[in-house]
Amino acid sequence: MMGPMEKKWALITGASSGIGAATAEKLAAAGYNLVLTARRLQRLETLKKNLQERAKVEIILAGFDMRQPKEIQNFLRDQASTLKNLDVLVNNAGLAKGIEKFQEANLEDWDMMLETNVRGLLYMTRGIVPWMIERGGGHIVNMGSVAGRWVYPGGSVYCASKFAVRAISEGLRQDLVGKNIRVSNIEPGMVDTEFSLVRMGSQQKADAVYAGMKPLTAEDIAETISWVLSRPAHINVQELVVYPTAQAHIGLVHRN
Ligand code: NAP
Repeated sequence: MMGPMEKKWALITGASSGIGAATAEKLAAAGYNLVLTARRLQRLETLKKNLQERAKVEIILAGFDMRQPKEIQNFLRDQASTLKNLDVLVNNAGLAKGIEKFQEANLEDWDMMLETNVRGLLYMTRGIVPWMIERGGGHIVNMGSVAGRWVYPGGSVYCASKFAVRAISEGLRQDLVGKNIRVSNIEPGMVDTEFSLVRMGSQQKADAVYAGMKPLTAEDIAETISWVLSRPAHINVQELVVYPTAQAHIGLVHRN
C-alpha cells in the first residue's frame, strides 16, 4: 500500500471489461491513481464510481477508439499533464475477431485486430515512452498471449498480432536499456472474459469455449500484473506465460 505522498499513476487501456477492469481494481486497491481508457465510456464511469467507493485514488477516464491514430493523439495531447507523470502503462486493449480459416477470413476482422492489437499499442507506447525517459523511469506491461508464441487453426492473424506484441516488447526493452524503464510481456492462456463473446459474436459459442474446464479469471491475470509491477525496481520480469491447469498447450484442453 502506497502512502499519499508516493501515489503512482498507471494508464490501463481496455479497462471497460475483463483483464483491464480487473487490473484497475487491483491497482486502485494498491493505491495507484488511474487513467482508464476504452470505447465504452459508460462502463468506465461505473467502474470509476465503484473503485472510488473503496479506494481514495484519482481516476481519469477517456473514451476513444485505439484503431484511430488521431484519437490516440488527441488523448495524449489532452491528458499530457497527467501522462507526463505516468509510472505504469498497461497496454491491454485488444481483441480477437473470427476463427475462420485463413482462406475464408474476413478482411475487416484482420484490420480490426491489427489496428487495435498492434498499431494502437505502438502509437500509444510511442507517445508515452519519451515522457517516461524524461522522468527517468517507468514500467510498460504489454498484454501478449500464448497466441504470441504458438499458432492454432483459424488463429493466424490474431496470433500474428500477439507475436508482434512479443517482438515489440523485446525490441522496446533493448532500445530502452539504461533508461530505467521496465518492459514486461504477460502471456495468458484461456481467460474467461468477454474475449470469446467478442470473437465469436454469440454467447452460446463463447460459453462453449470454456465448457467443462476451469479457465483463468481476469482477476488471476490482474494479480499477475500487480505482482510483476511490485517487484523491486532492479527486477524486470521479461515475460510470463500463465495457463489454466486444464490447458497444457494452446490447443490442448482437458474438459470434464
Ligand atoms: P475483453 O473482456 O473483451 O476486454 C477487451 C478490452 O479491450 C475492453 O475493455 C475493450 O473496450 C478494449 N478494446 C477492444 N478494442 C478496442 C478499441 N478499438 N479501442 C479501445 N479499446 C478497445 O477481453 P480480455 O480477455 O480482457 O482482453 C484483454 C487483453 O487480453 C486483450 O489484449 C487480449 O488479446 C488479451 N488476452 C486475452 C485472453 C483471453 O483468453 N481472454 C488470453 C490472452 C490474452 P471497449 O470494447 O469498451 O472499447
